[in-house]
Amino acid sequence: MPAQGVQPGIAPPTLWICEHCDTVYHRRELACGEVARCARCDAILERHHSVGVRGMLALVITAMIAFVQANIWPIVTLGLNGQQISTTLWGCIEMMWHQGAQVVAVIAACTLFFFPIGKMLMLGWVLLYARTGRRAPGFRLAMVTLYRVGPWTMSEVFVLGTLVAIVKAHMYFEVIPNPGVFAYGVLMLIITAFSSIDVRRLWDLTRDDPA
Ligand SMILES: [Zn+2]
Repeated sequence: MPAQGVQPGIAPPTLWICEHCDTVYHRRELACGEVARCARCDAILERHHSVGVRGMLALVITAMIAFVQANIWPIVTLGLNGQQISTTLWGCIEMMWHQGAQVVAVIAACTLFFFPIGKMLMLGWVLLYARTGRRAPGFRLAMVTLYRVGPWTMSEVFVLGTLVAIVKAHMYFEVIPNPGVFAYGVLMLIITAFSSIDVRRLWDLTRDDPA
């Protein structure tokens, strides 16, 4: 967390510190599309950002809507011997739990439900305050948690896995993809768009509320 030491009430930092090799650089404003890299280890120091705080908030809200739909709507319908069974994500997780795959069920519930929803709520909370340049209550904790939870949301892996499974299962059953899986697809696109945004710059964009 390079910008952690920023004191409240101080303008954006004048230095870049490479988080991989600790080399220090004089900071300068980046032009549109420019990326600053460490000369020693080639790690990214900063990107130019075209999406502002409001844009990020809009993305988070869109992601939340897609997430709700992805969880309410069924994912696939399986047809076998004239019977049709459709299931939601939670239906799958429950099924895995009862089939003796408790560990997989817990991992799926965490990576596909609890981590993404926690991440979206925390980001939304932080951004809601950051709109006016303030730090939300619990800002520090939320930012550190977001950083740690980051790699553990696996919606994109899930969508790809589901698509492969649908194609494979198609050889044995009648498989119809349902709206839930498309909602997950939309969620995957939003998450991918978000992965290019460095939320750590919120440290620079906000300051502690003196009140
Ligand atoms: Zn470096």
